[in-house]
Amino acid sequence: MAMSETVKSPARTPPGGGAAALRTSGVPADEARWTALCTRDAEADGAFVYAVATTGVYCRPSCPSRRPLRRNVTLFDLPREAEAAGYRPCRRCKPTELSTAQRNAAMVEAACARLADGPLPLDELAAAAGVSAHHFHRTFKAHTGTTPAQYARALRARRASDALAAGERPAGAAFAAGFASLSRFYDEAAERFALAPAALAGKGRGEVIVAAAGPSPLGMVTAAFSRSGIAAVRLTDMAAEGRAEIAAQFADAILIDGGPPFATLLADVIAAVGEPALAAELPLDIRGTAFEERVWAALRQIPIGTTASYAEVAAAIGAPGAHRAVAKACGANRIAVLVPCHRVVRADGSLAGYRWGVERKRALIAAEAAPERAGPGAHGTTRTEAKHDG
Ligand SMILES: [Zn+2]
Repeated sequence: MAMSETVKSPARTPPGGGAAALRTSGVPADEARWTALCTRDAEADGAFVYAVATTGVYCRPSCPSRRPLRRNVTLFDLPREAEAAGYRPCRRCKPTELSTAQRNAAMVEAACARLADGPLPLDELAAAAGVSAHHFHRTFKAHTGTTPAQYARALRARRASDALAAGERPAGAAFAAGFASLSRFYDEAAERFALAPAALAGKGRGEVIVAAAGPSPLGMVTAAFSRSGIAAVRLTDMAAEGRAEIAAQFADAILIDGGPPFATLLADVIAAVGEPALAAELPLDIRGTAFEERVWAALRQIPIGTTASYAEVAAAIGAPGAHRAVAKACGANRIAVLVPCHRVVRADGSLAGYRWGVERKRALIAAEAAPERAGPGAHGTTRTEAKHDG
């Protein structure tokens, strides 16, 4: 291919050009290197040294001492070549030692290596480098274009995405890579995947959803967390079923498995399944049609320990006669127990259906109606809020 490709000129300027372009020793100052030493160009340090015949001293290009006459200057590639020619190193610019630029580069390189294990406090990085925090921060930024914190974050995001690409269990990989908090997790995930800040229409498109599952007295609880709160709670016999339901619900989201950092949130959800009064304290991310959301809001107004009929709920939302639509909205509820669709029954008191099994519905109603509320998994009997009364 590319038969017509232009033949590259062999005479093009070598990379890095300028002072480093010509590397010869024991020669008079050429134009480029003369300019470098006149401007005390630190970038040229390491590329050559210049020796001054009248002083017998040789310097690095950035040496702050007075500029010599050009006719007295001889250039050498390496300090030892200058010494072999009888010159001694300048005590001001110490040409045999690493230049400031080289030291800074080494310092930044070492810091980057340390940051590979996760973010570190600026003070700690600076102390390890033996410089002030201010100097460290400025030097790091000059070399990398980012602050140490930004660098660590970018590195972490890249690692998490590498883990995703490698097919690892992503949450575990992400948290192993150093995520400290959930909100930061979501922020960084959104940044990494270039996601919109708010959920877009559709099945979680533009979102990261974290799923976590654990056992409860009513079976396996599988919860889905968005950055806004609990977006789904599923009650199933097997965790895999709950996970599959959530995968279908959020088919367009980036669905990942929650690791240990989600254990507390999951424990809260499971506790609320056994003690529904706790549900009021949990952040829910309720998503439905406008009608569904009105129905679900009304369900949350049904006092614990009581039930309502579909017609009563329809009346409560100002849509009397819409009891079929209400029943449908109840069936569409995706946040089991916390949005208590189990408290809606037929007008004759029979249970009708329940998305997660009518036996679970019966158990929930019985537990909530019991005077001591010693229901499934009840463990919050010391709570005395008046709102428990039905
Ligand atoms: Zn010098």
